[in-house]
Amino acid sequence: MLVEPLVEAAKTLAEKRFTVEYPEERESMPDTYRGMLRLDMDTCISCTACEKICPNKTITMVEVKTDKGVKIMPQVGIERCLFCALCEEVCPPKCLTLSKDYSFEAYDKRDLIKRPEELE
Ligand code: SF4
Ligand code: SF4
Repeated sequence: MLVEPLVEAAKTLAEKRFTVEYPEERESMPDTYRGMLRLDMDTCISCTACEKICPNKTITMVEVKTDKGVKIMPQVGIERCLFCALCEEVCPPKCLTLSKDYSFEAYDKRDLIKRPEELE
């Protein structure tokens, strides 16, 4: 009666680990994974399409000083993001994309609001 659980435990010990020593070890995400948004500020045309399409009001356009003057660009409240990728889909120059970065945990909720400069 006791032998069976011991055999199962021994089998489990011999199996490959499924977890990694995060954050020292990072798993690579599949191509279809949708993580932190990234913005190429140089090619953003300030069209506001991303803000308009976002179903959860995650995106707010904010002013950013650039070499060419002040532009409006998306600020993302990532805690509200559904990772639906609609913003990526509508972005004409494809400068707003969802990356494979899943590591954006924060102790303070305010740190989850990412200004355009922080999305680069
Ligand atoms: S992925 Fe979806 S929810 Fe997140 S910012 Fe883009 S449109 Fe909004
Ligand atoms: S849709 Fe793209 S180009 Fe338009 S404001 Fe958003 S990030 Fe910029």
